[in-house]
Amino acid sequence: MIGCTCAVCRSADPRDQRLRASVLITEDGVQYCIDAGPDFRQQMLRAGVIRLDAILFTHAHKDHVAGLDDVRAFNYFSGKPMPLYATKSVQRAIRREFSYAFDPRNTYPGLPRITFRTIDNAPFSIGKLTILPVRVKHAGMPVLGFRIGDLTYITDANHIPPRELKKISGSRILIINALRKEPHVSHFSLEEAISIARQVRAERTYLTHISHQMGLHAEVESELPSDIRLAFDMLSIELPE
Ligand SMILES: [Zn+2]
Ligand SMILES: [Zn+2]
Ligand SMILES: [Zn+2]
Repeated sequence: MIGCTCAVCRSADPRDQRLRASVLITEDGVQYCIDAGPDFRQQMLRAGVIRLDAILFTHAHKDHVAGLDDVRAFNYFSGKPMPLYATKSVQRAIRREFSYAFDPRNTYPGLPRITFRTIDNAPFSIGKLTILPVRVKHAGMPVLGFRIGDLTYITDANHIPPRELKKISGSRILIINALRKEPHVSHFSLEEAISIARQVRAERTYLTHISHQMGLHAEVESELPSDIRLAFDMLSIELPE
């Protein structure tokens, strides 16, 4: 965190040095990511991504959309607009925040080019994979999580309604947000995230969207059950068969 001198922010452990929450999914030659926050450009460069087929959005908070302008590089090489999978309300926010990209009078050739694919709470497909949206709550704000086969990704939630919890039940891998140990108004705490993992009966759970207030990666992880791990930047996970 800018300006912070706590043990986590000064830590030399690379697992304590985090960019914004995002995930890149590669399956059978199709590659897409979930969210494009302020670190999107750096994350794409760091992961050596040379082709991106789509971006899925969970919600329109700045830490999940602010990097969208940098899809220009993918537009440049593919010659195509970037498909964005988002709810109508996220689309409205993106149109507002990146209004210059939607202004028909703006003919500057370096504009990001995007095309929307509307999603709601119904399953949709990218490539061969079917993706099941999961509607969770972020201090009252609707946020989409995604179940992709036996992997579920949920960020920025502090509540999962029972019907949605049923949809993710039995996911073998659960990636879920846990901000810190203390409760928070819009994010699961460590204890709450573990309770969701137990209800889902996930084989392995990775915690994401972690704040520096969580404490040092090595110390926190040593206190956790072996099936609950803290995610870290550049962590790579095999999708269960
Ligand atoms: Zn700090
Ligand atoms: Zn958020
Ligand atoms: Zn967030």
